Amino acid sequence: MQENRIWRLIEVLQESTAYLERQRIEHPRLNAERLLGRALGLSRVELYLSFDRPLNEEERAACRTLLQRRASHEPLQYILEETEFMSLPFTVGPGVLIPRPETELLVEEALRFLKPLENSRAVDLGTGSGCIAVSLAHYAPACRVTAVDLSEAALETARKNGARNGAGERLRFVRADILSDDPADFFPEASDCILANPPYISRDEWDRLAPEIREWEPREALCDEGDGLAFYRSIAARTAPYLRKGGRLMAEIGHTQAAAVREIFSESGFGDISVLNDLNGIPRVITAAPQ
Ligand code: GLN
Repeated sequence: MQENRIWRLIEVLQESTAYLERQRIEHPRLNAERLLGRALGLSRVELYLSFDRPLNEEERAACRTLLQRRASHEPLQYILEETEFMSLPFTVGPGVLIPRPETELLVEEALRFLKPLENSRAVDLGTGSGCIAVSLAHYAPACRVTAVDLSEAALETARKNGARNGAGERLRFVRADILSDDPADFFPEASDCILANPPYISRDEWDRLAPEIREWEPREALCDEGDGLAFYRSIAARTAPYLRKGGRLMAEIGHTQAAAVREIFSESGFGDISVLNDLNGIPRVITAAPQ
């Protein structure tokens, strides 16, 4: 950038968009707007109202730092240190999976089931940022939720998100390995709903993921280092005794896994199994009841 000339915000935004596009970042304009907004301390609306404002060298340097991070494929949400899920704000950072919009389907299905119940209990296995557990506690005020994760960093973030969304006192956090620890350590007696968005990417699929995911997000939150079904087998084999009569097991699944997970659940003694499609028509959530 040439010295001694005035750079107006709109010009910096156009340059930044072109830069991110050259670096093959998806949605370059949106990313540039969010990053400049953060660097300059402006909301999106304020940014639009400030297009003619000249930026000094210091402000342009702050923009450049964030743009370079994004150009190296660091996810936007990690740079901004937050994201939105179920219309609620969530803090995210390295070591914690970024909530995905499609996971809202799992939460909505659980809420449909839990909201009419008085004093319900739910367990979120592998809570990560806490997006599922916190949303349930927020939108179902009669529900107490246990959030389980192996990662201390995840639990710390999930705790923060519970407090941030005013749901802290109905959340219980437990550090446990859901594959190998004694389920009695993390399941309260007789839950109404046990939920999981477990790591379901297979070892073979891992290398084909976008660099934003592969190089930045916690591998252990995404990949089971096997065929992608390890967590469903374990959860199906271990949860039934902890669900009350009429309770439900609900899980997010990968786009090719519906038939396989249905079989795993039914072989483990679950029935009344249904698979729900997400907004893109992809099978995304499976729900079942112990028989
Ligand atoms: N949907 C996520 C992805 O493809 C995977 C989430 C998970 O493994 N639970 O990035």
